[in-house]
Amino acid sequence: MSDKQVRVRFAPSPTGFLHIGGARTALFNWLYARNRNGVFVLRIEDTDRSRSTEDYIEAIIDGMEWLGLDWDEGPVRQTDRMDIYTSAIKRLIEEDRAYYCYCSPEELDRKRKEAQQAKKNPRYDGTCRDIKEPVSGIDPVVRFRMPQGGATIVEDLIRGNVSYDNDMFDDFIIARSDGTPTYNFVVVMDDVDMGMTHIIRGDDHLNNTPKQIHIYEALGYTVPKFAHLPMILGSDKSRLSKRHGATSVQAYREMGYLPEALLNYLVRLGWSYGDQEVFSREELIEKFSFDNVGKAAAVFNPDKLLWINAEYMKARDPDVLVDEVMPFLLESGIVSDGWKPDREWLAMAISTLQERSKTLVELAGSLRYYIADSVEYEEKARAKFLTEESLHYLVELKKGIESLKDLDHEVLEELFASIMERNDIKLKKLAQPVRVAMTGDTKSPGIFDLLGIMGKDRVISRLENAINSIKGAGK
Ligand code: GLU
Repeated sequence: MSDKQVRVRFAPSPTGFLHIGGARTALFNWLYARNRNGVFVLRIEDTDRSRSTEDYIEAIIDGMEWLGLDWDEGPVRQTDRMDIYTSAIKRLIEEDRAYYCYCSPEELDRKRKEAQQAKKNPRYDGTCRDIKEPVSGIDPVVRFRMPQGGATIVEDLIRGNVSYDNDMFDDFIIARSDGTPTYNFVVVMDDVDMGMTHIIRGDDHLNNTPKQIHIYEALGYTVPKFAHLPMILGSDKSRLSKRHGATSVQAYREMGYLPEALLNYLVRLGWSYGDQEVFSREELIEKFSFDNVGKAAAVFNPDKLLWINAEYMKARDPDVLVDEVMPFLLESGIVSDGWKPDREWLAMAISTLQERSKTLVELAGSLRYYIADSVEYEEKARAKFLTEESLHYLVELKKGIESLKDLDHEVLEELFASIMERNDIKLKKLAQPVRVAMTGDTKSPGIFDLLGIMGKDRVISRLENAINSIKGAGK
């Protein structure tokens, strides 16, 4: 008989943007589903109504789409499913697996403090465990009756067997006094109802798992398999947070990272395959398994992410980059809305820059000199290269270029060679001033590529500006 079809889910709470850690959880679920020809479900855990917002739901969905983590079912929203939870809670009460608790928050708070002072575990003391009659005038919470004594073992595909003493846990609340169910209960109901075979999530949820296992059992459901992913830490080994810099997928998108690069980096936070660093999507799907997920926390390294991004920038089809860089050109004001580039030309310009641009933001920044009407000179570059000495070469070059029809590589090379020979100078003496004239700075792609893509008219006008600038400075 074949195995049951794998069904997994990503279940974000929409109380913030899609975090790097959340995206990694989504990715591992997605990879496992795709590797096993399974089903990947997106479930929005929005029962915490005070903190969940529509904007965050949209941002999470956007982030997933941008990363290419497509889901097969959903997005399912918990708030659409309240009836299911209420009837299961009723059933647990009827079967005495759960009970009403009438203790007031103040009373519980007092007891908790007392326990803390006495250095005891501040767990619920079971006051209402055996109350049979309702107490009038109080809206009770519902508590789940946890077994007393013994241990619960979480069988985890990454952690192995993790054992918990049941006495660590108290009878936890599964419904608040306003009737809304709590996370540990809802998550079980949803996972059962949606037929989840594997629960893949961050290991901050590992300690919740024993409680959830008992709910599965109380309701007579099969416990799924668990895989708790190692934590992601910042460089100082504390849990990754805003203090460590950008932590949302959206922030990396805005900084000009490519989705494939981010995905490739995320997978390495916990998973490895020998010492291979760069993987295609297909390769990841084929190679992914829990055997290669480590237990140890992973350290988020922004420099490595940048390195991977640069690798993807280099390998990208320039024609694809044309579309990808557009929002960044707009954003930085290099072009305005409605700008319609000659795609082929822009792709050529990009192909000269992608090797040296680590992000789309850098690429857009460099494209400025190809696109803008004029450039501003970086002061040091101007002072060093737009000098009386170079004036002469620039004038000669301008004349030469005026006489050319097209600026192709060979013709430019000949023109440069003749100027160098006449003046007995090396390429650098000529090329650097030309670079500054064209780009405002001293770094650029190969000089002939640069001029070829700029085109005759623009090259002439920039040489003219540089010549005038030298003459102006000399007065
Ligand atoms: N909504 C939970 C979270 O965002 C996920 C819980 C789970 O995967 O079981 O942390």
